[in-house]
Amino acid sequence: MGECEKLQEVLESIKDACQRVGRKPEEVKLLGASKTVPPEVLRRFYECGLRTFGENRVQEFLKKYEALQELNIDWHFIGRLQTNKVKYLMKKVSLIHSLDRKSLADEIQKRASKVGITQEVLIEVNVGGEETKGGVEPENLPELFEYTLSLPNLKVVGLMTIPPYLENPEEVRPFFAKLRNLRDKLEEEFKVELPHLSMGMSHDFEVAVEEGATIVRVGTRLFGERS
Ligand SMILES: *Cc1c(COP(=O)(O)O)cnc(C)c1O
Repeated sequence: MGECEKLQEVLESIKDACQRVGRKPEEVKLLGASKTVPPEVLRRFYECGLRTFGENRVQEFLKKYEALQELNIDWHFIGRLQTNKVKYLMKKVSLIHSLDRKSLADEIQKRASKVGITQEVLIEVNVGGEETKGGVEPENLPELFEYTLSLPNLKVVGLMTIPPYLENPEEVRPFFAKLRNLRDKLEEEFKVELPHLSMGMSHDFEVAVEEGATIVRVGTRLFGERS
């Protein structure tokens, strides 16, 4: 199957999932999770119409950013982020999905202020409570969110999660619902709008869309198995 067919297939699945729960497909953004995928492949997907790509490693991102500079790509950063790398992302990514601690918020604030932008971010939440997963624990989420309200150059626009991997995507559903509930509670408690839920990957994005995802991060289903 060619790139454009793969892209169409994933977009169709998103559409079908939207239809099942009465959502509009335009509410869901497909992000190509493109770690390890070479720039020439990204270019082909871009030509098929995919505009949003998410990278996990700063070094790798910068190379691709450079290689594809003439394209109008909407880059996101979706991986764990070291504070000393934040400066390289400024003015290059529209959204950082992985804010998980105050020190990182402070660094984003500092760097965004320096270049005169407001950086949009998502707070990553460890909904499964797994030791190996990044993200703030749900019980510490309100405190971290409240802290970000004091940072003028950083704007939280929603939440992100990487739930536990479970063979049956239906079993992941409660974790997606949990992220949505945490978002709803923050909106109510702080009287703010947090429109985005970044959740769902190749094997479970349909369920994530049914549970309210506004950004799905799809790698394998678009680009094939990573070597
Ligand atoms: C790799 C990755 C994805 C995509 O995973 P697939 O299972 O290949 O779709 C999504 N989100 C993050 C944070 C990733 O690192």
